[in-house]
Amino acid sequence: MQREDDAHGGSAAIMEPSTHRLQQTELDFYENYSWCLNLFPTISQISRYLQQELLKVTPGAEDWRAAEIQTNVYLLACAISNAVDDYIAGDQYDFSKITSALPFTKPGISLFQRAISLKAKARLVRVHRLRRWRGQWEAALIDLLKAFLSPGSAPDLELREGRLSDLLRTSPMPPELGIQRLRVPAAFRSQDLTSNDVLLLGNKLKASIPDPTRPLMIFGLRTAGSYFAPLLRASLETQGFRVLDGVTVRPKGGMTTPEIDCVRHCVRERGRAVVIDEPVYTGSTLSKAVDALQQCGTSKEDIFVLVPVHASGRHWRDQNPCALAGVEVITLEPEEWYKQRLLSDEQIRERMGEYFRNTGFEVTGVSIDKQAAAINEQLRKWSDEKFHNRVKRAFRVELRGSDGTPGFRYVLAKSVGWGWFSYHASLAAERLEEYVPRVFGLRDGMLYMEWCEHHDQPFDRATWIQAAGAYVASRVRRLRLDADPAPALLRENRHKGFGDVAGNLSRAYGLKATAVLKRPRLSARLADLACPCPSLVDGKMRPLEWLHGPSGPLKTDFEQHGLGGKTEINMTDPAYDLAEAVLHWELLPAEEADLLCRYIEQSGDTTVQQRLFLNKLAAGMRAMYVAHSNLEDQRLAHRAQEFNRDFIVAWNFLTQQTMRHCASMCCNPKSQGWHAPIISLDIDGVTDRFLFGFPSTTAAGIEAISMLKAHGFSVAFNTARSIPETKAYCESYGFAGGVAEYGAFAWDANTGREQILVDELSAHQLTVARRRLKAVPGIFLNDDYRYSIRAYTYERGRTIPVPRLLIQNLLSELRLDRLSYHQTYLDTAVVAKSSDKGKGLLALLQMTGQENVSTIAIGDSDADLPMFATASRAFAPGNITCRRQAQALGCQIAGSSYQLGLLEIVRKIVHPNGETCDLCGPGGLTSGDLFSELLRIADRNAFGLLARAAFDLSWVKNFRV
Ligand SMILES: [Zn+2]
Repeated sequence: MQREDDAHGGSAAIMEPSTHRLQQTELDFYENYSWCLNLFPTISQISRYLQQELLKVTPGAEDWRAAEIQTNVYLLACAISNAVDDYIAGDQYDFSKITSALPFTKPGISLFQRAISLKAKARLVRVHRLRRWRGQWEAALIDLLKAFLSPGSAPDLELREGRLSDLLRTSPMPPELGIQRLRVPAAFRSQDLTSNDVLLLGNKLKASIPDPTRPLMIFGLRTAGSYFAPLLRASLETQGFRVLDGVTVRPKGGMTTPEIDCVRHCVRERGRAVVIDEPVYTGSTLSKAVDALQQCGTSKEDIFVLVPVHASGRHWRDQNPCALAGVEVITLEPEEWYKQRLLSDEQIRERMGEYFRNTGFEVTGVSIDKQAAAINEQLRKWSDEKFHNRVKRAFRVELRGSDGTPGFRYVLAKSVGWGWFSYHASLAAERLEEYVPRVFGLRDGMLYMEWCEHHDQPFDRATWIQAAGAYVASRVRRLRLDADPAPALLRENRHKGFGDVAGNLSRAYGLKATAVLKRPRLSARLADLACPCPSLVDGKMRPLEWLHGPSGPLKTDFEQHGLGGKTEINMTDPAYDLAEAVLHWELLPAEEADLLCRYIEQSGDTTVQQRLFLNKLAAGMRAMYVAHSNLEDQRLAHRAQEFNRDFIVAWNFLTQQTMRHCASMCCNPKSQGWHAPIISLDIDGVTDRFLFGFPSTTAAGIEAISMLKAHGFSVAFNTARSIPETKAYCESYGFAGGVAEYGAFAWDANTGREQILVDELSAHQLTVARRRLKAVPGIFLNDDYRYSIRAYTYERGRTIPVPRLLIQNLLSELRLDRLSYHQTYLDTAVVAKSSDKGKGLLALLQMTGQENVSTIAIGDSDADLPMFATASRAFAPGNITCRRQAQALGCQIAGSSYQLGLLEIVRKIVHPNGETCDLCGPGGLTSGDLFSELLRIADRNAFGLLARAAFDLSWVKNFRV
């Protein structure tokens, strides 16, 4: 971590401050906030925390701690307002996605919505006491906020706090509200906004209101609006404006009766409406809010929109420039944000001065020199240009020791949240001290830490694995959560990590409609799988995030990706960090075992293995999603090749981890060696199909393979897949060997012998084609393929083949007469004409000394025809795409498709007359876990599944806002 040499002239020595720890006053303060590790406390817990904070408010106190406590009171009180408003409004739904995709559903949906709005009206009567309380709460909160804003004029601060405290104690909140989990305002957790920015927006509004005598109504868009609206109101009232009302809405879910009443009241009073929200991507929600106001009679000229602009969302109005036409939009540009001001040289100098004074050093200067500028440029390059990017900047800090020796440090200041939404960063830094770069302190939501140089020098993998295992275990021991918020979030459709897993796994139901209907049920099932040690996990274990420290690897970016609100996956199971490590470090099975072993030994989490597979799915799906959304982002076009690689790594990971998991459920996985008859088995369309958004086998596939193995058949894969993947499949299923890349490569698992089956001239033509395809913008290649080419482009989260004409013209234009191509459902394969699956099979037989033995081929497409022609017997499942040609070659076609077809074929091969024997056994899946269940469902009739699913109304949860 420490640079030995000085890149700036060699004069200044680097000094070691006497302590590694954060400042004691900060430590003492933040240590009292262990509860902040859990970003999603329940509303009851929030009430309790607010009571505690209210007791700490000291009138007249002016240091940073007093300011933090006031901020916390504000944040916690608004969290309660938000939860109560959501509760009063009842469940709200947004079906616009269905009605725009399937217009014929409109009448049904509108009927349903009418029922919901009737239910909501009935609910208003039921919750009338809570509504009255909410009114009192709002008044008391505004009153207290006014006292915070102008401390001099409010000698009765304690009285105002007392009112809020009393209201908390006597609140008529029903128990089902108390157990709900906080909705996190992204503005204050991940978007670098502060309460000061709300006040700044208020000042801008004041400057642009022509006639200050007309009253105002604040219209906040929940969730952020619940936090912004009361503060804005308090600030405007403090400055003499008349505010009629503050109301918060979720415009996507429509307005409730009391919300409409508020707006009408404002119209009657000739008031103006002020809409306020957090930074937006497109402004569509804002324009919905403006529409709603207009529908209630507000004229466009009387609407102001206040919105901070995020650095990654400067062009939010480009997508729909007419949306807010005629409405006055007041923005807070990224440069105006309060946290940008904290990054000025003077502010940094003051902060660093305080931190270093305790270590016996004086700060003599702060600057952004050449190296700091280079660091900032590097940080910019690494960023994904997304809303979760933090305000951060590196500085060079000049120091002088007590004996006068000069020195310097590079310090990184990074925004980590606001008020209690930032304290987890300090707690994590302190508790993970030996695994993370030195942290100097946390103040005003900014974390100040030592900048450590990233070296390109790779890690010794064994050392890193030990460190990573211990690091994840330390998080379990030291950053444990009091209770796991993930299950509740998952049930409410608010958990990205397992929500995406549920979404992808629901595809096992075959039809898209069934998948949508079943998704909430699957979420609920995943929520039932409890983690015994929920923790603030790291959430990002990529090699890029690790540094060489003086005594071992150091983890950067350790505080924000585990739990982070809407933009993060919010995983709480440490198994997720292990899964991320296996994925991004591309760990071999033996390395994975070492990592787990180290982790278990240090954490005592002995059941991690059982939870690992689903966490691997979550990690892989997340990586695939991130890679795809980066590929679609024009601003990141220059990094497209990197994201293509990320996508392939994630795809391979999902495919192979799932395959290993399925193979582990097959009986007798040991290789059988070579003996007649040899079965030449295709993968895609036969053992596997595109099941969960990536290929997998099903229960029938597992049963078929188990049956072949139990009866001692010698099986070889003969597939279009890459060499490493074919080998992995053979090894996991215990097959004797395989042919990969459409017959371009043969491999004997028993001896390890391999043979390339592409002639030199064809190989040369492949190189030419590869080079040319790489130059076509938007076309990507999978570099795992060595003796054939896989070309594709991206659409809707997956790869698709390149246009037929493009590839055809390219081959003829370049006179690549020795090449041909196949279009698959995922990509375009360019192959040497001289090799095919039939020749591959012959080469494999020859290599293994089995030239004249009988062979059985099982395949499903054009590419399998040469294999059918070569083999003694041929079979195909019912989904075969070249039925007539196959039949002409004597291929027998099963009645069933895909894996059920394979099972039918295998039964016929093993026992032609339908009898059974001692070897038959139960075979296939025995375990009753969720994933096995889905593998069974995948074999069932898709329409039957839809008919059953349609009667299960839990699907409406998908559309809750
Ligand atoms: Zn048998």
